Amino acid sequence: MNFHVLTLFPEMIRDGFETSITGRAVEKGLLSLETVNIRDFSVNKHNRVDDYPYGGGAGMVMQAEPVYLAWESVVEKLGRKPKVLYMSPQGRVFDQTMAQELAEEEDLLFLCGHYEGIDERVLEEIVDEEVSIGDYVLTGGELPALVIMDAVSRLVGGVLHNEDSAEFDSFHDNLLEYPQYSRPEVWRGKAVPPILMSGHHANVEKWRREQSLLRTRQRRPDLLEDANLSKTDLKFLRMLEEHDKFE
Ligand code: SAM
Repeated sequence: MNFHVLTLFPEMIRDGFETSITGRAVEKGLLSLETVNIRDFSVNKHNRVDDYPYGGGAGMVMQAEPVYLAWESVVEKLGRKPKVLYMSPQGRVFDQTMAQELAEEEDLLFLCGHYEGIDERVLEEIVDEEVSIGDYVLTGGELPALVIMDAVSRLVGGVLHNEDSAEFDSFHDNLLEYPQYSRPEVWRGKAVPPILMSGHHANVEKWRREQSLLRTRQRRPDLLEDANLSKTDLKFLRMLEEHDKFE
C-alpha cells in the first residue's frame, strides 16, 4: 500500500506515521509514504498558498493552483491517477467498512485542507471522495489523514504481527471486541475471569463471543442490526432479553 499525502505540514504526517507499527511496516517495505508539500507549488512570489474568500467572510482559502500542481506531480511520478480522498468535515464518515474498502487499493492520495478549506474548483477536478472522521471541525486534514492511514494500514497483510488480530477487533463483523486481560492473574485484588485460565480453548472462544455480543448490545446496539449472527448468538441475545425482563 502506497500512501501519498498533499499537505502544508509534511513533518506532522511523517512524525505521526513513521513511528511504532506503521513505521516498522514502512521499514519492511509493506507500506510506503510520500509527502508532498503544497507550498512547494506556490505560484506566489511570497510563497503563499492561501487567499481571501470571494464574497467576503472570515478566514483564508487554499488556492486551487498549488493543490492542482501538487496532485499533478504525484500523477506524473506514478504514471496513473491514484484514488484521491479529501479530508473534510463534510464528507462520508469514516468507519471500519470504509477502511476495508480502502485497504484494497494500491495507492491512496490524501488531500489535507487548512484554514477555511480549499477552493471548490480544484476539489471538483481531482477529488474522488470527501471523507470525514466525525462530526467536529479540526484545524487541518493532517490528523484525519493519519487516522485513516493507520486504520487502513492495520488491514494490509503483514503489518500486524499476528495476522489474526485484526479479525477479532471491534467492528469486525459489526461487533465490539471482548474484554482483554494480561498478567498478573490478580491485580489489586481483581482476578482475571477464571474461564481464561482454564486452558479449554472452545470454552474460551464461547465466552469471548458472548462477551462480544453483551458489550455490543450494551454499548452499540445499533451495530447488532447488521451483525452476522449465528443461531447460537441469537439464542444468547434472546436469553439476555428474557433476563432483562425479570430484572
Ligand atoms: N470551513 C470548513 C467547513 O466548515 O466545512 C472547515 C475547514 S477546517 C477548519 C480545515 C480543514 O481541516 C478542512 O479543509 C479539512 O481538510 C480538515 N478537517 C477539519 N475537520 C475535519 C473532519 N472532521 N474530518 C476530516 N477533515 C477535517
